[in-house]
Amino acid sequence: MSKHSPIWHPFTQHAVLTEMAKITGGSGAYLTKDDGEKLLDAIASWWVVTHGHCHPHVIGAIKEQAEKLDQVIFAGHTHEPAERLAQQLLKCTPHGLDYVFFSDSGSTSVEVALKMALGYWHHLGENRQRIVVMENSYHGDTIGTMSVGERGVFNQPYNPLLFDVAKVPFPTAGNEQTTIDELEKLCVQGDVAAFIVEPLVLGAGGMLMYSAETLRALYEVCKKHNVLFIADEVMTGWGRTGKMFACEHAQITPDIACYSKGLTGGSLPLAVTMCSSAIYDEHYSMDRSKTFFHSSSYTANPIACAAAVANLEIWENEPVYDRIAKLMQMQSAGLARFKDDGRFTNIRQTGTIAAMDINVKDHGYLSDVGPRLYEFFKSKNLLLRPLGNTLYSMPPYCVTQGDIDQIYDAIAEAADELL
Ligand SMILES: *Cc1c(COP(=O)(O)O)cnc(C)c1O
Repeated sequence: MSKHSPIWHPFTQHAVLTEMAKITGGSGAYLTKDDGEKLLDAIASWWVVTHGHCHPHVIGAIKEQAEKLDQVIFAGHTHEPAERLAQQLLKCTPHGLDYVFFSDSGSTSVEVALKMALGYWHHLGENRQRIVVMENSYHGDTIGTMSVGERGVFNQPYNPLLFDVAKVPFPTAGNEQTTIDELEKLCVQGDVAAFIVEPLVLGAGGMLMYSAETLRALYEVCKKHNVLFIADEVMTGWGRTGKMFACEHAQITPDIACYSKGLTGGSLPLAVTMCSSAIYDEHYSMDRSKTFFHSSSYTANPIACAAAVANLEIWENEPVYDRIAKLMQMQSAGLARFKDDGRFTNIRQTGTIAAMDINVKDHGYLSDVGPRLYEFFKSKNLLLRPLGNTLYSMPPYCVTQGDIDQIYDAIAEAADELL
């Protein structure tokens, strides 16, 4: 065991994983370790890196902004990077998301979304407080976001603190109508404030995928019953599903949308919750009790906003969509190698995200096949971190065919050695 460190790492059982890989640099799709070895970042450092590590345009913008203004209180004050970013976001997000509220992580953007929804109904004077969620969802690790996420081993000790929500089943292939009908049954009761969902791909729940038609049908049920539709695009945003945002596949505009992770290209923590005018207007009043009472110290940090502006400029000035199209095609060719391999099931892809399940009896996050594979991939200089028995890759868009080959060759080898 290495020298004892005082650091408590996230989602890490220190008794099992005693040695942390020490990373000293990042460039494109690669991380550099302190021993000089390069590691292929096949999960985009937890789904955040889009164009590649240390993209020069983003790093340049960070440097430039850091010398001008590092941080300023955002209540009653504003600044150029936030103003520019808000204008750019209005242009690239679904039409009808008219206001931008800044925060600093995916979880907080979801907390803000829930508070906006509850505040909206409260100020309207309607008694709607129930939140409807989808089975297997993940929206973050704070108490509020755990409440709207799947209950399980991750949040068992905190269960007494989590608020009650209503749940619809995940729309597995062939059972989509059940999910739609269940949502309708809940919505007709009249007390539902909002339905929150990860559009097209449930990430931490195991890279579970469902169709754009189903997403659209769920949205239409909400519209019909006046229920607010919250899209948590924290993971699915910024090109992961093949379009800029997953909601575009279903041609819908949510009432509230949460964006984070790739918002700064994966360089700095920043999040936004965007909403319709209707929600903003309900908080707009000479009555100060209708103020939206939410803030974090670093709301709209200027350096993070400058990084996000630079990220959006990359989308405008570089052939990002071409890279995504190529990545999608490389991913499907990679997956195809396993389609007749009985050791894998549920081979699936949405946009740039590719996933398959390992055919083992011991399912679930605590299945020991995940950590064994993780160690194996590490020995192959590949950062690939299974979710339970689900293997997935979500690389930055700058990967090459050689990188993708490295991923699927390692999976094939791992299957031969470990399964
Ligand atoms: C990662 C994630 C979050 C939480 O974001 P953090 O920045 O880790 O707080 C919320 N929702 C979804 C869908 C996510 O994938």
